[in-house]
This record gives sequence, C-alpha cells and structure tokens, in this order.
Amino acid sequence: MSYCRFGEADIYLYPSNTGIVCCACDLAESNGEREREREFSSYSAVLDHVRQHQAKGHRVPDHAIERLKTEQQRIGDVYDVDKRYPPTPDEEDQ
Ligand SMILES: [Zn+2]
Repeated sequence: MSYCRFGEADIYLYPSNTGIVCCACDLAESNGEREREREFSSYSAVLDHVRQHQAKGHRVPDHAIERLKTEQQRIGDVYDVDKRYPPTPDEEDQ
C-alpha cells in the first residue's frame, strides 16, 4: 500500500522490494533528470526528499510522514522489506 498517492497528495510514495519510491517525481524533472522515478534506501533520505517537496509547496499528508517515521523507529533507518513486513495494521485492508 502506498504511503500517499496523487489526489490526496502531490507526490506518490510507495514501498518497493528495494526501497521507497517517489513516482513521477516533480523534483527529478526540475533537476533535469531524465528518470522521473526516485528510489531511496533509507528513511532519513526519503524524509529529506519529502521536505524538499514541501518546500516547493507540494502537498504531503501528515499520515504519510507519520508512517515513515513509525517504520523508521521500528526497523531502523535502512529500509528492509523483510523487516517491514508483516504490514502495520493500517495496511491490512489493501
Ligand atoms: Zn519526489
């Protein structure tokens, strides 16, 4: 289940097997990067990235940031899909 998606937010963040992905990232585009998908392997990196979006005025819901911080506290800063599961209760409805 994504952390947040377009509609409720101006960014689309979701967990992959190898990291947390910012899909169709406007920041990548404004940096002149061809690839519009950014992947982060640590929570500190993705939280920093989210702050850059907020600095541009992009909407990021509080629940997405809270969930990132909760997972960071639970499993440590380095993203690990095996430690991340089993999903937190709010993911069970996916
Ligand atoms: Zn982004």
